[in-house]
Amino acid sequence: MIPPKTHPPEYGRSAHLRVYATAWPVTALGPGHRFVVWLAGCVRKCPGCISPEMQPPDAGYDIPVEVLTGRIRQVQVPLDGLTISGGEPLDQPAGLAAFFPLVRREHPNWSVIVFTGYRLEQILDDPIRQKAVFSGADVLIDGPFRQTMPSPHCLKGSANQRIIALTDRGRGLLRQCDPQTLPRFNAGLGSRKGIDMIIGIPPLEGTPLPGIPGKMSCDT
Ligand code: SF4
Repeated sequence: MIPPKTHPPEYGRSAHLRVYATAWPVTALGPGHRFVVWLAGCVRKCPGCISPEMQPPDAGYDIPVEVLTGRIRQVQVPLDGLTISGGEPLDQPAGLAAFFPLVRREHPNWSVIVFTGYRLEQILDDPIRQKAVFSGADVLIDGPFRQTMPSPHCLKGSANQRIIALTDRGRGLLRQCDPQTLPRFNAGLGSRKGIDMIIGIPPLEGTPLPGIPGKMSCDT
């Protein structure tokens, strides 16, 4: 059990999420066309973090989970799923536990992917984080970002991270997911931040990426 004193302020707050940005239709952070939510706040300060602007707990904006669900409902393009990234999504577990059932109710066929710096074992040791993950996630990409461990996989920031299917839907999703064909980056179509977003997971220095010269910034 993670001691309560280590919990950030958003940990136990349900019905709201602290969101940094949203974008759609994204094809770089999982199979198909996805709605992506980046949650604000992360205390890890990993060297080489690709989204330091999302680390402050007061980055972004507060939004009731019903309002966020309504924004997804208004999207006019067909979508296949939801991806949650950040920041550290599982530092807002109560909000996610409230949000996921709403998404599930409105989009029963969607897949849900969650990126987190926590390992699955840590999540299972924390009842609220565990509830959040198992109330909606089909696939978990877990573990802290390690700058010294490059990964060629387009869904992993570093090689220590794992891609874990939590449901039958998640297992099916990973079977059809060919990392060689998933796009590594998207421009930020539909971004609500009004900024130029390069969406995806950049390769670490020295990792070749055909067609994209150099290292690019991104918002994941
Ligand atoms: S967990 Fe992610 S958002 Fe947080 S500091 Fe590390 S790389 Fe950045």
